[in-house]
Amino acid sequence: MSPFALLNLSPTIQSTLAKLGYQEPTPIQTQAIPPVLLGRDLLGIAQTGTGKTAAFALPILDRLALKRPTDGNRPIRCLVLTPTRELAAQVAESFHDLGKNLRLVHTVIFGGVGQGPQVKALKRGVDILVATPGRLLDLMHQGHVRLGNLEVFVLDEADRMLDMGFIHDIRKVAAVLPKKRQTLLFSATMPAEISGLAASLLHEPLHVEVAPQATLVEGVDQKVLLVDQAKKPQLLKLCLEQKDIERALVFTRTKHGADRLTKGLIKQSVMVAAIHGNKSQNARTEALRQFKTGQIRVLVATDIAARGIDIREISHVINFDMPIEPENYIHRVGRTARAGRKGTAISFCDASERKYLTAIERILRGKVPLDKDHPFHDETCTPPAEKPSPAARRKFSPTPKRRRRTPERALSGPQRIRSTAPL
Ligand code: AMP
Repeated sequence: MSPFALLNLSPTIQSTLAKLGYQEPTPIQTQAIPPVLLGRDLLGIAQTGTGKTAAFALPILDRLALKRPTDGNRPIRCLVLTPTRELAAQVAESFHDLGKNLRLVHTVIFGGVGQGPQVKALKRGVDILVATPGRLLDLMHQGHVRLGNLEVFVLDEADRMLDMGFIHDIRKVAAVLPKKRQTLLFSATMPAEISGLAASLLHEPLHVEVAPQATLVEGVDQKVLLVDQAKKPQLLKLCLEQKDIERALVFTRTKHGADRLTKGLIKQSVMVAAIHGNKSQNARTEALRQFKTGQIRVLVATDIAARGIDIREISHVINFDMPIEPENYIHRVGRTARAGRKGTAISFCDASERKYLTAIERILRGKVPLDKDHPFHDETCTPPAEKPSPAARRKFSPTPKRRRRTPERALSGPQRIRSTAPL
């Protein structure tokens, strides 16, 4: 019996999963699918890369396929809200792949592209709508989207939506939804605002958490390189010359920084493109396509644009700028080592960014190994040596009988942090 049969998924879905090569459910799928099939509300704490999209898409598809409206109408019965266009497109693709032979219609709407084709698709009727908040509200105001028959409401990457200032939009959408509905909320982290939002939207939800907060996916080798800001472009060039970099995702803090870096790399004949919020949707889609197909080896991105990118073959994540929010380090690094592969995360850190590195190491509860083996190593970026606490001194003191891990040895070599639920 297929392990998916044990979760009570229909035979049609089971055969689709077999064709897709899904052999067994991931931990979030095992925990979420049975209760969602029964109609329960769910609060899921999970990062991308854990299989969370299928964890909600599979039971939703199964339920909607089982119970169809009999009057010939096709009202929107499921709405999935996502923070970014890329994630919306990816979620829609998952519904497409997982919903084969179920005769359900889905569409995706987001801003940055003309609304004409989206309105046409909505007019033809859709069962499942995947949307970003801005365009959804726009089309709702124009009367193209009606949500009066909604059965399931999904908020994906809710923490990101709040970061991006979508809270009012979410509330506006929620206000027009039927009170009697199923609601699923997924978030990578659980700040207080998310608990508040969950309390107001969910009804007696089941809590499912697959990886402790701030845990990196398994299989990532991390290192930090201390370098003056002005030398970072040269260091990047040097890094990109390494043969083991099959596909690198390079993060900058700002859109402007992404453009400047990309221009510099193009001048050095590196095949590169950038994605960020100021790029048209078509340019972003095209850049992602080229990156996916290997036409370009380097993609420069800002945090928001890169959120949810699911490209398995990213061998390296390079933090050209350190992220200000330590959680973003986890999200960035999670773009590599997808689906059980290995990956490398390299961070460039200058003196002014030491504080961000310290915050990252605090949430990781460990040091990111320092790599001095490059021509731009800059000692002035090193923080003053901290006096270890008595507890740390006890923990690390080498004893004559049994050799313990010294801080130096703990730092040497790549560090691997395990999560409980990678794919
Ligand atoms: P997500 O966490 O939803 O971004 O999913 C990450 C990747 O895992 C996607 O490429 C999915 O197609 C893949 N995936 C999800 N569930 C499974 C599974 N049970 N077996 C194998 N791959 C999966």
